[in-house]
Order: sequence, then structure tokens, then C-alpha cells
Amino acid sequence: MMNNNEMLLLKLGEVVLKGLNRRSFEDKLVSNVRRRLKNCGSFQIYIRQSTIYVEPATDSCDMEAAYAAARQVFGVVSVARAVPCEKTVEAIVETAKTYLAPAFAAARTFKVESKRADKHFYLNSIQISQAVGGELAEAFPNVAVDVHEPDLTVYVEIREKHAYVHAPSVPGAGGLPVGMGGHAVSLLSGGLDSPVSSWMMARRGVELEMVHFVSPPYTSQQAQDKVLELARLLTAYCGRMIVHIVPFTEIQEEIRKNCPEEYFTLIMRRFMMRLAEAVAKKAGAKALITGESLGQVASQTMMALGVTEDVTTMPVLRPLIGMDKVEIIRIAREIGTYDTSILPYEDCCTVFTPRHPCTRPNLEDVRKAESALDVDALVAKALEGETWVRVKP
Ligand code: ATP
Ligand code: MG
Repeated sequence: MMNNNEMLLLKLGEVVLKGLNRRSFEDKLVSNVRRRLKNCGSFQIYIRQSTIYVEPATDSCDMEAAYAAARQVFGVVSVARAVPCEKTVEAIVETAKTYLAPAFAAARTFKVESKRADKHFYLNSIQISQAVGGELAEAFPNVAVDVHEPDLTVYVEIREKHAYVHAPSVPGAGGLPVGMGGHAVSLLSGGLDSPVSSWMMARRGVELEMVHFVSPPYTSQQAQDKVLELARLLTAYCGRMIVHIVPFTEIQEEIRKNCPEEYFTLIMRRFMMRLAEAVAKKAGAKALITGESLGQVASQTMMALGVTEDVTTMPVLRPLIGMDKVEIIRIAREIGTYDTSILPYEDCCTVFTPRHPCTRPNLEDVRKAESALDVDALVAKALEGETWVRVKP
């Protein structure tokens, strides 16, 4: 489907339901689309009647790339490639005939579906469909009209300035525009879960900043690079982000030296939450995000989660809490993080795993075990060693 005039129509999702906030949601979404499409060429991007119009301003625009990028912008429910034309039945028919010729060649049946956003247009939507459908049936005698289950649906939209012709739209990423849901720090490991949990919260409009804990020499440079690569993959959806790298070796060694083995992981997780909260506070973020899923491992039982959460007053968002691993893996594949996540580099969580972790921990017992450590000093020192990287699409 090549056409010099080809443009994109992006339909808004829940954004349209937001009442008085609608305006700011729309502005945010348009600016997110603009930013995401910057690398694909120069476009005119504007919004009318719950549709974002993306029109190439020059011949050098990469429409394939723009199409792919538009589908990754949260807040967009569907994306259609369309061609504008004059608002007459003749022009619409001519446009459909040339633009959709390959689609007609592949179809045995078709129908026309019309929408009249411009209520002053002289035909109503049923009349438009009849007129355009009749002419197209004549132009493509091998393709019959079938209004119930056609192979091809030709969409015609009559809007303010132009009519638009397009084939079926494809689903967009859904959700809400990034930036409308607040700002949170996501704990990103190299595993399968945390890229998915990050993506899910970004889809609800949350702007993300990442924190990753490293334990050299127990964890390798490759493990850290893998996490930066995961963050980079997420930027296609979330936009650019900062990844904070926090040294975790000393904390883990101190835990191993001074605490009972059955509590290793729990105490380690409590340190992660403290450090993440400190990073979040400094960044002005209002919540933490983890990839925890109830019952997945010993440190993710209900009681273990309670022990972990005990050290932070920030909301801890766990979008995977009720999901099965197969569902998480399906999303990881869909969003493109799966192949990177399964690269076999050790995470700090797997460095000192207890042989018999406590699955029904008592909070007081864990606190007592932890009191063997100088918690504040360890936290302060780890934060001093923090570095950060800005990751771009
Ligand atoms: P994942 O697949 O995300 O690694 P997991 O099933 O391996 O999760 P854990 O290793 O217990 O579970 O980690 C639980 C959560 O804690 C992770 O989803 C992530 O949010 C956070 N986390 C674990 N390790 C790290 C790390 N090295 N840096 C930052 N966050 C981490
Ligand atoms: Mg992990």
C-alpha cells in the first residue's frame, strides 16, 4: 500500500473518558507521539475529535517506522494507515481503487464502512457506504459485497477538511499517556518479571526511573549491560529514562556474615526497598514497582511480602501479583524483552540464596536478625556509590 499522501490516524483510548482532564491527557499524548516519531522524519501531528493525525511533512519520512512507533505509544488504542482525499464520492472511490488495489486483489468479498464526523456532509454514513460500495463493486467485478463477514473492510471517514480512506486498523498499545500517572521508581533486575511489571505500570501512564542493584565481583558486567539493554528496549514504550546503578556487594556480604541463613533473601529484599525508596525520594517519585508475583518464590509469599514492605512507607506497586508465569512470559515476548531476559547472567538475588529460605517469616524475628547490622550506615554507603545512566530509544 504505497501512496505519497499516506498518513496515520491514531485513535485515542481511555483518554476520551477523562472528563475535565481530557485536555491535558490529549496534550500529553500528542507531545508523546511527537517525541516518539521524531526519529522517523518530519511530521505534522495534531488532534481532532479523539483522533491524532500524523501527516508526513516531507517525502523522506519513514512511514513504516512511524507506523511501528505509533503502535507503541500508550494512550493510543488503534492505528490506521490512511490516505486523505477530497470530500466527494468520486475522489473517495478513486483513492480506494488505487490505495487499496493490493487488498482488493487478495479479497473475495468486501464492504464499506463509513463514518461522518462532519455532520454537514451531504450524505449520511449509510448513503456514503452505498455510493462508494456500489462503485467499488463495479471497479472490482471479482470481489463481491458481503456486509456480514467480508474479507476486506474499506473504511471511509468524512472529517473536517478531507475524507480519509483506510483498510482495517491495528491495535495500539492501549493504556494512558506516559506522564499522566505519576512518577515511580521500578526495581529492574535482569529477569523476566521486572521488565514486564515496569511496562505494565508505564501503560497506566506512569513515568519510570529504574534502579538496579549490582554485586561485583559476584555479578558480572554482562549482567549489568543486560539490564541496560532491557531498559533500552522499554524506552520504545516509556520514552527515555534514567537507570540508577546501586552497589550491593557489601550489604550482601554483611548479611551473609551476620544473619541467619534462612533470612538472607528477606533481609536483602528489605535493603533493596530502603535503597529504592531513597532513590525515589531524591527523584521526586511517589511509588516503587517490583516484579513480584504471589507465591512465585519463597520471598514472594504473603508473609514474606509483608516483611519486605515493612521498611518503606511508599506504595509498592506489584502489577504481576496475580499473574501466572505463562501470562508474564507471553507479555515479555509481545513487548520484546523475552530474548534478553533469558540470557544466562547471574543476578545478585541468586548469589547467596539460602538452602532453606523461610516462607512463613515472622516480622519481629526478621527485624531482630537484621539488628545485627548497621542498617543506616550500609544504606548510606551504598547510596554514596550510586551511579546512573540515561537510556534513550
Ligand atoms: P525478575 O524476573 O524480575 O528478576 P524474580 O522472579 O527473579 O523477578 P526476585 O529475584 O525475587 O524475583 O526479585 C523480585 C523483584 O525484586 C524483581 O522483580 C525486581 O523488581 C526486584 N529485583 C530483584 N533483583 C533486583 C536487582 N538486582 N536490581 C533491582 N531490582 C531487583
Ligand atoms: Mg530475578
